[in-house]
Amino acid sequence: MILYSTNNKDLRVPFKEGVFNSLPADKGLYMPVSIPVLDPEFIADLHKYSLPEIAFRVSKAILNNAIPESDLKAIIDEAINFEAPVIEISKGINVLELFHGPSLAFKDFGARFMSRVMSYFLKEGEKQLDVLVATSGDTGGAVALGFLGVPNVRVTILFPKGKVSPIQELQLTTNGQNIRAIEIDGTFDDCQALVKQAFNDPELKEKFRLTSANSINISRLIPQTFYYFNAYAQIQRMGYKEVVFSVPSGNFGNIGAGLLAWKMGLPVKQFLAATNSNDTVPEFLQTGVYKAKPSVQTWSNAMDVGDPSNWVRIMDMFGGDRDLLKKVITAYSYSDGETLEAIKQVHAENGYIMCPHTAIAWLALKGWMTEHPSDDVAGVFLSTAHPCKFPDIFPAEIAAEIDIPVQVKELEGKERISSSLGNDFEGFKAFLLG
Ligand SMILES: *Cc1c(COP(=O)(O)O)cnc(C)c1O
Repeated sequence: MILYSTNNKDLRVPFKEGVFNSLPADKGLYMPVSIPVLDPEFIADLHKYSLPEIAFRVSKAILNNAIPESDLKAIIDEAINFEAPVIEISKGINVLELFHGPSLAFKDFGARFMSRVMSYFLKEGEKQLDVLVATSGDTGGAVALGFLGVPNVRVTILFPKGKVSPIQELQLTTNGQNIRAIEIDGTFDDCQALVKQAFNDPELKEKFRLTSANSINISRLIPQTFYYFNAYAQIQRMGYKEVVFSVPSGNFGNIGAGLLAWKMGLPVKQFLAATNSNDTVPEFLQTGVYKAKPSVQTWSNAMDVGDPSNWVRIMDMFGGDRDLLKKVITAYSYSDGETLEAIKQVHAENGYIMCPHTAIAWLALKGWMTEHPSDDVAGVFLSTAHPCKFPDIFPAEIAAEIDIPVQVKELEGKERISSSLGNDFEGFKAFLLG
């Protein structure tokens, strides 16, 4: 598998280099030179396959021998070892639950696959790999748990102080071993900027073998295509042929993976990009002007992104053509008030409890289905996290009904360890060198 930079199609590197460098030197993002289209027969027969079987077929096609078959199969079987069920909650409206992994968020797919791919490529005796991650909450937990105990790798997680939920904070700060957490006095965008700056700092690059585990890493994007194919397999079993996916979006990695699956031949009628009031993309689709904004804090904090880092990948897939893009993606933006009303409504009418990110995807799907009523289309909204990660959002009577999964119970007695830093680069650099 060969990758190019979105800033320069002639800058080409093998998959392994893209995995370890995350970002090309010209600050573009890596994209595959060729996106294979899967055999239509395989797509028509998806319902016959399990999630790990689908994951193997899809990754084999896109990785194109970058990892030998038997090793790839072992990576998949270890990384993709939990379910991603599609459940009907009302007529035509289905939820794709992506929160059954160890950190209770969809980011487990990307993080678990990436950590195993990195450890596969990391030959014995090579310099220690330093993974730097900025997180608005969920990435850090998934990456920490994905890399915990992996030899020859150290993980440093930056999270915005006071802006992650108590369970998220536990997931970030109770690991020990090869994982360290830093709380930054600032926003998620500050954390992301610090990580980006570290990658461009000559002294740090010389001293450490730095890599990123954010959604910009190509090895996180690939495994996220698996559950789109697997969701399609499930809607086939339910008797549908057409699907609309509604994706709660922040950095646009999740929906980017969906679009990659679509490019690989998955028949998707429409993608809905559902955002909170951080509406840079909905505004761009409407006006044609992409204006990065400072992020604003909302209840769906994993989507508080004012300048989505994966957006250039999506533009790249459409050759920069906004009109083409608008045929495939419809964007919606919702306030915290609307999010809470959606949570209450679905709880009351369907007995289902959604996390705030998931609720925004539900709202977008409802919006689209109302405008395009049809019995033949399966509406699927992606549930990106378990509701127990955001306990403060829910009215007490709903919160009381949320079951606490075993993954959380195990964290509660553990000691928390983290460092505190400001949002200036010099302090962060001194910490890394220190
Ligand atoms: C990360 C995250 C998102 C946003 O996903 P992107 O790939 O950044 O668009 C949505 N919901 C939850 C719960 C998340 O953790």
